[in-house]
Amino acid sequence: MTLPTKSPAIQITAFGGPDVMKLVDVEVGEPGPGEIRIRHHACGLNYIDVYQRTGLYNNPLPLTLGMEGAGIVEAVGEGVAHLKPGDRAAYATQPPGAYALLRVMPARNVVKLPDAISFEEGAAMMLKGLTAQYLLKKTLPAEGLHAGDFVLFHAAAGGVGLIACQWAKALGLQLIGTAGSDAKCRLALEHGASHAINYRSEDFVARVKEITGGAGVKVVYDSVGKDTFERSLDVLRPFGLAANFGNASGKAPPVELGALAAKGSLYVTRPTLFTHLSSRESTQAMADDLFAVVLSGAVKLRIDQRYALADVGRAHQELEGRATTGSSVLIP
Ligand code: NDP
Repeated sequence: MTLPTKSPAIQITAFGGPDVMKLVDVEVGEPGPGEIRIRHHACGLNYIDVYQRTGLYNNPLPLTLGMEGAGIVEAVGEGVAHLKPGDRAAYATQPPGAYALLRVMPARNVVKLPDAISFEEGAAMMLKGLTAQYLLKKTLPAEGLHAGDFVLFHAAAGGVGLIACQWAKALGLQLIGTAGSDAKCRLALEHGASHAINYRSEDFVARVKEITGGAGVKVVYDSVGKDTFERSLDVLRPFGLAANFGNASGKAPPVELGALAAKGSLYVTRPTLFTHLSSRESTQAMADDLFAVVLSGAVKLRIDQRYALADVGRAHQELEGRATTGSSVLIP
């Protein structure tokens, strides 16, 4: 019998502000059937971690936060055939538990990380990159998306945003990005956005109409929610699709279905990555697509913030304070 080892981890025992996160030692044992034990070299920081911390997504407590990581597989449980001890690996998964050095977790969403991709890049891109993958390739308007089509992507200079800007360009799409400052708008343009709108100083509906010659966009990707979603419906062309995939400013208000008819037979969806990651096969297929676009050089990971695990309070403050760009990683 192997005795459990201790691992540093960031836990919460109550929902609240960044100060509820505490660095504690947790016991980590051997993986059970279908599980692995991973030694993280880097963990991803994601806006969803803020929702978990504040209780917007109501998880049982105590809770170790974090949904993305990369490291070395130390042990595998019964029935795990796609990984072995010593493999470099990365994942995005639920339930949370990634803010730790060691973790025992289900193997289903863990994939081998190509040698040419660093652990930090792996931790910076699994949750955000797989999200960009399903948004651009699997969340489509009635007529599909084709080269030359206009889409609007809010918060385009963030973690998901900068990956989406580059990937959209590689697909030939014209991605109009919004961002909260002129410097962030420049960053979106440098990463492939065809146009950028500072939505704190400009009316993004009017600007999108201007850019598209009055036609509107085929898809609006809205992770800002409360502050933008109602107006996001006004930038769509007939039969356009509004994908609300986040709540950075609060939850989007309910949609009055009649309004969708009045605005041009619109579609609305509220997708989550975790539906797409429900099987090992779909996880691997999406990860292969993500790795291919990164290895081709078309999408470069931009890690603008690195924090020690113990400094996670500052990391959350900066993310919520709109002070970050690109991806952020925590180093355990
Ligand atoms: P980001 O790096 O994009 O950070 C969030 C950004 O949202 C901020 O930088 C800020 O950019 C913008 N924002 C707008 N209004 C506010 C506000 N009131 N408070 C704070 N930020 C605001 O985060 P991630 O890349 O981690 O995630 C992007 C979004 O995607 C999040 O909403 C997340 O929840 C969502 N997501 C959804 C998934 C899904 O499957 N449904 C999966 C992964 C992520 P600016 O200053 O430019 O406005």
